[in-house]
Amino acid sequence: MKFQRLVSIPIIAMFILLGFVYYATVFIFMKDWFGLESSNGLLNALIFTFLAFLCVFSFIVSVVIDPGYVPPSYVPDVEHSAASDQESQKNSVQVRQCDKCSAHKPPRAHHCKVCRRCVLRMDHHCLWINNCVGYQNYKAFLVLVFYATIGSLHSTVMITGSALQREWDISGKPQLKIFYVACGILMVSLSLAFGTLFGWHVFLISKNMTTIESHEAEQAAWLARKSGQSYRHPFNVGVYRNITLILGPNMLTWLYPLAVSHLKDGTSFPTPQHSL
Ligand SMILES: [Zn+2]
Ligand SMILES: [Zn+2]
Repeated sequence: MKFQRLVSIPIIAMFILLGFVYYATVFIFMKDWFGLESSNGLLNALIFTFLAFLCVFSFIVSVVIDPGYVPPSYVPDVEHSAASDQESQKNSVQVRQCDKCSAHKPPRAHHCKVCRRCVLRMDHHCLWINNCVGYQNYKAFLVLVFYATIGSLHSTVMITGSALQREWDISGKPQLKIFYVACGILMVSLSLAFGTLFGWHVFLISKNMTTIESHEAEQAAWLARKSGQSYRHPFNVGVYRNITLILGPNMLTWLYPLAVSHLKDGTSFPTPQHSL
């Protein structure tokens, strides 16, 4: 865990953005639409506050938790690499070496130029969490994007509702209209950005792929097609199992970012040929 990662400009910018969205949604738009003393206003404020809390919590978890680094004692599983199955030999248990770290690289690990080390099951380096998204913090990242999507959508509904019920005085102050339009554009953009990102990662986990692997798979699928074959991602062990490998076997804790006791050391992964 590294709390120092919280002290960076993108992280502070995210906290300011969240603070602004929270304030505007609850104390301007909800207050204007329902009034915070009404049961509707109170209920919406409570739901939104809970969502904002979950966002902050999963955000902090994604930032401070290490993404998972290659243990110094790691040695490749030579027994598996000698497996006769060609696909697993080629894709999953191939002996890989990182030139920059001068060390063995487990399957699915990649060297991150920003972190300057190899990251287990690396997805991508995310500027907005000032951290790599890897084996240990991928669940927290995914849950964060989920809460951010729901929160943005809730805020968009509040802004729209508040704007529609308002009696706009044509000759009134233009600043308020500009503020509403600017907040509307911001929330629709955030909803689209988070929603698209969440949809993309749901697709990825259904295939048990990382963002890096999805690019590699495109190339591999093209090469396979050229030779009249079809490509199958070597770590795809079926949709439900793929999901439980990321979110955990207990559905009740899927949305809790710290429920990661199902994670192992991140140096080996089940394949349809070798179930771990
Ligand atoms: Zn490396
Ligand atoms: Zn990184």
